[in-house]
Amino acid sequence: MNNHITSIHVVIVGAGFAGINAAKKLGNAKGIHVTILDKKNYHLFQPLLYQVAMAGLSPAEIASPIRSILSKYKNIDIVLGKVTNISLSNQTVETDFKKYNYDYLILACGATHSYFGKNEWENFAPGMKTIEQATEIRRRVLTAFELAEQEIDQNKVKSYLTFVVVGGGPTGVEITGSLCEIAHFTLNKEFKNIDPKNTKIILIEAGNRILSAFSEKLSEQALKDLKNIGALVKINTRVNNITNEGVWIGEEFIPSKTVIWAAGVKPSETGKLLGTELDPVGRVYIEPNLNLKNHANVFVLGDQSHCKDKNNIPLPGLAPVAIQQGIHTAKNIIRVVNGKNILPYHYFDKGIMATIGRGRAISEYSGIKMTGKIAWLAWLFVHILYLIGFRNKFFVLCQWMWSYVTFGRGARLITNQDWKNKDS
Ligand SMILES: Cc1cc2nc3c(=O)[nH]c(=O)nc-3n(C[C@H](O)[C@H](O)[C@H](O)COP(=O)(O)OP(=O)(O)OC[C@H]3O[C@@H](n4cnc5c(N)ncnc54)[C@H](O)[C@@H]3O)c2cc1C
Repeated sequence: MNNHITSIHVVIVGAGFAGINAAKKLGNAKGIHVTILDKKNYHLFQPLLYQVAMAGLSPAEIASPIRSILSKYKNIDIVLGKVTNISLSNQTVETDFKKYNYDYLILACGATHSYFGKNEWENFAPGMKTIEQATEIRRRVLTAFELAEQEIDQNKVKSYLTFVVVGGGPTGVEITGSLCEIAHFTLNKEFKNIDPKNTKIILIEAGNRILSAFSEKLSEQALKDLKNIGALVKINTRVNNITNEGVWIGEEFIPSKTVIWAAGVKPSETGKLLGTELDPVGRVYIEPNLNLKNHANVFVLGDQSHCKDKNNIPLPGLAPVAIQQGIHTAKNIIRVVNGKNILPYHYFDKGIMATIGRGRAISEYSGIKMTGKIAWLAWLFVHILYLIGFRNKFFVLCQWMWSYVTFGRGARLITNQDWKNKDS
């Protein structure tokens, strides 16, 4: 800690992909002391959150304690705390407990889901950004089958066995594919009064195709794959209400006890604490060096920043963007501390991929398109590679191998019983 008094103090807010990678790069750097603050005590690998929601993985397999990730760096302090105030003029960051002075600030608080002003839908259609939300979705999905098994009224059975996923981006497609697998394979022979194969899984997308970030050809392939595994996909369809009983699309009502929201995200509210200009969705505008205009020592990274690529288009909210920005910013801070000039950031596009279900995925990199098993294996490899911690890599790989061979799902636990919701 004595180190701290004489060295440059970097405060990082958020230990997500951007923050944790910035911290690792600054770890043991000479003349630099780091304090990393997060409201959670763990780093979450969000790309596999849907597997927790779909009972394939347990929360601990996709999350690692921040302290253990950064334990080998003597110059890093880890603080559990929610940042509630930032003063650019005083160079301070505040949690409910304490105020921290900074020489450099890295703000990387990510995003949360957006209901486009219809926040009341959240109770009926949870989104998936946190472990709590993922386990709640898991509870609702597994409970729906249990209640259907006990129900005599066939209309109610139908609504328990109808699952609606709103939003045809990668998360919506991944959930839809998993629900099809659960209903048609995993639970297939486990119930006496219902046949899980009769489950209806509906994916609703407002645009004219699913997975719109991919080429048309790949998005058509994904649509075909989803139909082949039993999903019903409705494109050009806008949800206009969600209730306790189901979903309204125009004049049509779909009775469903389980609706999952995968339709929109909005950046963290912490961007507002800076008092600088935000884009229309609430992301903080930043300069090509990733710093705030007129504040060379304040960086805003990842999902909560508005950073343009070389074609002047805002970079997407993806893990590689956040990871690269975190590493780049840390390198720049080290450069400045060593009397060197700061370098502008350029995003290296590593492509995009989405999995549709067992043995099915799509991926696109620099015009190279892959589908089917090859894309699926590439998806598995990339996700294992980026997952933090050897223990997690090992257990996730074992779970996937076991699930592939047996069609089973290792985390079929109904927890969160006291969650405020329609079934409790
Ligand atoms: C379900 C899902 C699936 C995804 N799939 C993919 C995928 O397949 N591929 C891909 O590239 N990207 C995917 N993404 C997007 C990717 O996860 C994000 O782009 C990435 O996490 C952004 O990193 P970040 O560092 O900006 O924020 P995050 O990783 O979200 O981290 C933000 C951190 O800030 C902390 N925090 C927030 N507010 C405060 C506060 N006030 N005080 C203190 N701490 C705070 C949070 O606890 C969190 O740890 C997915 C996202 C989700 C939700």
